[in-house]
Amino acid sequence: MRILLVEDETSIANFIKEGLEEEGFAVDVADNGKSGMQMAIDNMTEYDVILLDWMLPGVNGIEICRAVRKENNEIPVIFLTAKDTTDDAVFGLEAGANDYIRKPFAFEELLARIRVLMRSKPGDGTTFHCGDIEMDVESHRVTKKGKNIELTQKEFSLLEFLLRNKGKVSRRTRIIEKVWDIHFDYDNSVIDVYINFLRKKLDEQGAESFIETIRGVGYRINNDK
Ligand code: CA
Repeated sequence: MRILLVEDETSIANFIKEGLEEEGFAVDVADNGKSGMQMAIDNMTEYDVILLDWMLPGVNGIEICRAVRKENNEIPVIFLTAKDTTDDAVFGLEAGANDYIRKPFAFEELLARIRVLMRSKPGDGTTFHCGDIEMDVESHRVTKKGKNIELTQKEFSLLEFLLRNKGKVSRRTRIIEKVWDIHFDYDNSVIDVYINFLRKKLDEQGAESFIETIRGVGYRINNDK
């Protein structure tokens, strides 16, 4: 799952980015309003959530939010704001934001709000299974036959993406868009490497892999698994 964070204070941006990456999100950061607006408009379908600081150099968060809402009503937007009057909060929500959080905030609170918004998107759950493999996104746990399986952040994100799209082919380009951030260098073989890591950790020995390769297109976890 991929998040756009528009925040001009480097220390806050780093704190949020690092925390979210530990939770398995890919995070793109814009440090000013203009590039934030550009990234939001250019990559709209790639983001699962947009986090917008309110006061930004150039274009402010409200303007970005309005521009996003002109194109897309689905994508959750959360304001990060130092403003703390009720009027300002209402103004943010009227501009189309789904939620707002006042600075300073605890990372856990931000994460909880992101999870709530992602849960309320149609078709998006937080627990998934495939045969005897179970994934709980909120507690960040993957088990096989009830036994804990340790995954790296990228392995976790990739598995989450494949399971969210169970029964459908996950195209390689789409996997890159949703699991890797904007700094990905388009070496496609990285995906195969991570698929192999997942297979090594989760496949039944001697059996067909739980991840099917669709040659030249991508990968799929079948519904009957
Ligand atoms: Ca700011």
